[in-house]
Amino acid sequence: MKRVYNFSAGPSMLPLSVLQKAADEMLCYGESGMSVMEMSHRSKHYDVIIKEAEALLREIMNIPDNYKVLFLQGGASTQFAAVPMNLMTKNGKADYILSGQFSTKAYKQACKYGDVVVAASSKDDNFSKIPETTRESFRPDADYVHVCFNNTIYGTKYNYIPDTGDIPLVADMSSCIISEPVDVSKFGLIYAGAQKNMAPAGLTLVIVREDLIGNCMDITPEMLNYQLMADADSMYNTPPCYCIYVAKLVYEWIKELGGLEAMKKLNEKKAALLYDYLDSQDYYIAPVSKESRSMMNVTFVTGSEELDKKFPAEAAKAGLENLKGHRSVGGMRASIYNAMPYEGVEALVEFMKKFAAENPKA
Ligand SMILES: *Cc1c(COP(=O)(O)O)cnc(C)c1O
Repeated sequence: MKRVYNFSAGPSMLPLSVLQKAADEMLCYGESGMSVMEMSHRSKHYDVIIKEAEALLREIMNIPDNYKVLFLQGGASTQFAAVPMNLMTKNGKADYILSGQFSTKAYKQACKYGDVVVAASSKDDNFSKIPETTRESFRPDADYVHVCFNNTIYGTKYNYIPDTGDIPLVADMSSCIISEPVDVSKFGLIYAGAQKNMAPAGLTLVIVREDLIGNCMDITPEMLNYQLMADADSMYNTPPCYCIYVAKLVYEWIKELGGLEAMKKLNEKKAALLYDYLDSQDYYIAPVSKESRSMMNVTFVTGSEELDKKFPAEAAKAGLENLKGHRSVGGMRASIYNAMPYEGVEALVEFMKKFAAENPKA
């Protein structure tokens, strides 16, 4: 069987043991005599799966009881509209921090639904760092402040929780969810597309403080109404059943590893290996400010368009796939999510050394 080191930003690697378990159970789940793919979402077998998924996620993320966990569809991009429709309903105002393309998209969608302003932006720095803010950066009557916690395309991350005072903080955590512990109680709402670090594409996770829902705009489609989804235990309609099942296997895998503290240690070790190498040489350039570095997406360039093109092509031949940077920024990006083993990053660093030696700059 051929398995490469897959550095894709999303959909991305899943833990091998999770894939094996899913394969083992593919034709017959437990005593059910059928695949999870074939099951009614209202069946007793599936009921156990979705309840366990939620219970495990609550356990590993230490989610307080006054938060709802919703398993939804439509990707993180659908949340760009769902968040304002559900939460921008007290004063009709929201403040957005722009730290990359996804937060800019979220901001543009929110503008359709109310009085939305940019509280801070790092656009002038090519989004190479997280914009700095204080409480005073935000309008005191904003219904929420929106941030993108890990900027997948640029390789930046909030390495602290921004202070918004009493204003609920909403965070897009698509590319850093369950990579390390976070204090959920510091957030009003967390959302994440599952395909970066949690499950196959098709599942979107929303974790929301109960008191913030139940007051959505009249125009809100039923499918985007958090209260309705919460009341139906994410089963208002057919949920993404198989994705939720794989997410459950991933949560089990994390729990067995020792939870998010252990996960964080592994992720830190992988990221340190790559960043330490980047900092120790001058062939590759890491464009991101050190204090804003992402542990999940590591970006670098050679400074030569030709070599930037050659690198991912040569790497793929060596079994290191999907290292090409996002089409909007170029260069290289290594996404080293939870499922990327330490050996994968070791192999990447060895390849980088070899490539640098074999391809001197003019
Ligand atoms: C991938 C990504 C998105 C878009 O997710 P979809 O599920 O494709 O809509 C949004 N935000 C962040 C931070 C992402 O990494």
